[in-house]
Amino acid sequence: MRAFAKYAEKGLTIAADGAWSVFRRINRVRPRSSFTPKWSDKPLLKSWQKSKPTLGWPRTTDSLCPKCVREARREILDGKRDVSVLLTEKVGEIKAQIIERDGQVWMVKDCPTHGHFEDMMAIDSKFLAHIETMFPGRDIPAHNDEKLHNHGSSTIKYGRGSVLTVDLTNRCNMMCDPCFMDANQVGFVHELSFDDVKEILDNAISIKPRRQLSVQFSGGEPTLSPCFLDAVRYAREVGYNSVQCATNGIEFAKMLSLQ
Ligand code: SF4
Repeated sequence: MRAFAKYAEKGLTIAADGAWSVFRRINRVRPRSSFTPKWSDKPLLKSWQKSKPTLGWPRTTDSLCPKCVREARREILDGKRDVSVLLTEKVGEIKAQIIERDGQVWMVKDCPTHGHFEDMMAIDSKFLAHIETMFPGRDIPAHNDEKLHNHGSSTIKYGRGSVLTVDLTNRCNMMCDPCFMDANQVGFVHELSFDDVKEILDNAISIKPRRQLSVQFSGGEPTLSPCFLDAVRYAREVGYNSVQCATNGIEFAKMLSLQ
């Protein structure tokens, strides 16, 4: 009985593969127009309309010199260069080679000023090759975000993201050693006002195709922000499908202990 079920399952899989392949061919010869979802001004792409970047290796890619980037950041913060150079110049950009070496994948690059850099991209080249084969192709081209996302040569060109993370505050009621934000340990408080939060949420939700399916409030400890509850309420009001909170839970535990 088990063997029969196994063969039946195999047969169904082969039949479904065949039917899908025929359907795709017919659809390619007589394509139906794609529909335009409400979160986009342009129709969705058919699978064969999706382009792919050059994958595999060896290949040349765009990269950054880590030292040039640090120097440029310092000069901008010190007022020696205007921040607009990030839009008008290719600050720190260099070419890099992606190569396979001893079963691993490495990025190697040379900066004319700072010399040679190497970064490991994958400890298992076969696994990375497998991941690359699963790339479905580029998503719908970005539109409606020219002003918000003018990042020079790093401007986002395609598609959507998934989670918009908004750091409400760098304060925290803990002081963990490996804190990803150095919360409570930098000597200053950086906290968004409710107007700041509204502007971020309004801007993000106006982009087409809509990038963020959900919003995550983070920090520091987001529940310490005076506008935490207002921010959650506003995010739901303007249409984020889900609203998450990256919290250590202490404030919630305090509330529960009072009940
Ligand atoms: S933000 Fe998170 S990791 Fe950082 S101190 Fe607070 S609880 Fe710890």
